[in-house]
Amino acid sequence: MTSPRPPRTLGRAETFKRDWLDGFAGAYGRTVRKVPGAYGVLARHAPERGRVAVVIGGGCGHYPAFAGLVGRGLATGAVVGDVFTSPSAEQVYRTAREADGGAGVLFSYGNYQGDVLHFGLAARRLAAEGIDSRTVLVTDDVASGPADAPQRRRGVAGDFMVFKVAGAAAERGDDLDAVAALAGRANDATRTFGVAFDGCTLPGASEPLFTVDETTMELGLGIHGEPGVRTVPRLDAVGVADALVDGLLPELPSQGDGRLAVLLNGLGNTKYEDMFVLYKRVHERLAGHGLNPLHTEVGEFVTSLDMAGVSLTVLALDDELAPLYAAPCDTPAYRSGGATLATVAPVSTVDDALDRPEGPGTAGVVDRLLTAGLARIEANEHELGRLDAVAADGDHGLGMTRGMRAAVTAARAAEAAGAGVSGALLTAGTAFADAAGGASGALYGVLLAETGAGLDGDITAAAVADAVDRAAAAFVELGGAKPGDKTMLDAIEPFRLALREHAGSGVVRAWREAAAQAVRAAADTAELAPTKGRAARLAQRSKGYADPGATSFALLVSAIGDEWERTN
Ligand code: ADP
Ligand code: MG
Repeated sequence: MTSPRPPRTLGRAETFKRDWLDGFAGAYGRTVRKVPGAYGVLARHAPERGRVAVVIGGGCGHYPAFAGLVGRGLATGAVVGDVFTSPSAEQVYRTAREADGGAGVLFSYGNYQGDVLHFGLAARRLAAEGIDSRTVLVTDDVASGPADAPQRRRGVAGDFMVFKVAGAAAERGDDLDAVAALAGRANDATRTFGVAFDGCTLPGASEPLFTVDETTMELGLGIHGEPGVRTVPRLDAVGVADALVDGLLPELPSQGDGRLAVLLNGLGNTKYEDMFVLYKRVHERLAGHGLNPLHTEVGEFVTSLDMAGVSLTVLALDDELAPLYAAPCDTPAYRSGGATLATVAPVSTVDDALDRPEGPGTAGVVDRLLTAGLARIEANEHELGRLDAVAADGDHGLGMTRGMRAAVTAARAAEAAGAGVSGALLTAGTAFADAAGGASGALYGVLLAETGAGLDGDITAAAVADAVDRAAAAFVELGGAKPGDKTMLDAIEPFRLALREHAGSGVVRAWREAAAQAVRAAADTAELAPTKGRAARLAQRSKGYADPGATSFALLVSAIGDEWERTN
């Protein structure tokens, strides 16, 4: 018999909703309070006499939707159901009654049957007590139904757009019909398309609710795992961004003047940095279609527990919707100072290091030698990363490729501008350090630059040996390593000494002998225990594995030696 697998989540299934609501209300008591006797939250300042109450809600597991969007300028209250389950009519009723300030209640929520039934029942009961209400269902998910039957579409991240417009209209003092009309217009102008990479896990469960094959992605998957429109092979960032934009373009609302509010929404397990990577492309694509994405949010607004994935929402703005969308608000999950909307031209980060250097033309000598080094590093990028991951952070391969690409690009430009070996190596050094980052980035930077600084005359074996001495001294001064610490220095020292020893046999021969020494020494570092750098904390784990820095050094100097010999 197999023993049951432990839960994958922290929250306990039985008490999940109560526990997180208590913590939420405790944390954000300055903005919200719990509705007495109901699973609902209200803005601290509510109810307000004469102001329309905007009441939103749905199942939980979607935070910040819905409770996180309660506060001044956005929702007045939110009703909280169990995970992925509509709140009951009773809970809706109690929350709405508490939120009403005499001007009526606008209900808004995603178009799901359970929600429609329970909110609808609550609205009847409120009406019987003389409390007026209107309802605006959010139907932004283009993957969930045909364009000619939008009422069959479900609501996903576009919830946020509609709530925001409704909340701002209510805050402005519009009456119930006006708030409902504006919320309805916002919904008509909002579209969302999403992509999921992996499923989500219910509180207390030991298995995900559903999974996505690791070689594929789901286009158009719903926020509770409703089936998507298409399964496609896994895409890279540009591919994902294109899939999102291509999913939306044919569905763009016809109203508006090209100005868009854009929401790139994380579904729960997608990193913000990754979303910004996607956004870069999304922005380019939208702008390329003559659209004007002028108010963007990138972050988590409507999640799906820990689902990996993103959705893209656009709201077509016009002169009526734009100021409402941009109006100030203050909620636990979203605050806006109310800055006026303005077009921000897309900026492209100038980063030559990211571009693969062009193949050599009439390359200078530093360019040629470093290009050979780069090719060897690229071929071993994965292995260097693997070595670094044994006891540290696994970034050495990536850092080295980035650094070498930048070094080649810089040396090429310098040589094209007439620089000699010294000048080209100096600029290559700072470019390497800038692009690679990390400990090894600075250390390799100093090696390249100091070798350059020491080489301002003829390139003889003695001159190269002197320059390498100088570079090794600067390296030790900067990094503080001693021989035997299991660092790059354990390859550099034997290299330096062998270069001096073989100086009599000519520069290229001496270099190749020294490189062979470095290769042996790098392999020998497998027996050492590291005391410097990140790897020091996990010293024992790295026994039996060569030091990544020593390995990359040996790869570089031997590639340079091979190229030098070949073209000598
Ligand atoms: P980081 O340690 O910042 O993640 P890398 O992973 O790119 O940088 O480089 C790790 C390598 O850098 C190590 O294998 C080691 O050879 C070298 N290294 C780290 N710190 C030092 C130091 N203080 N002196 C000499 N070499 C060092
Ligand atoms: Mg590292």
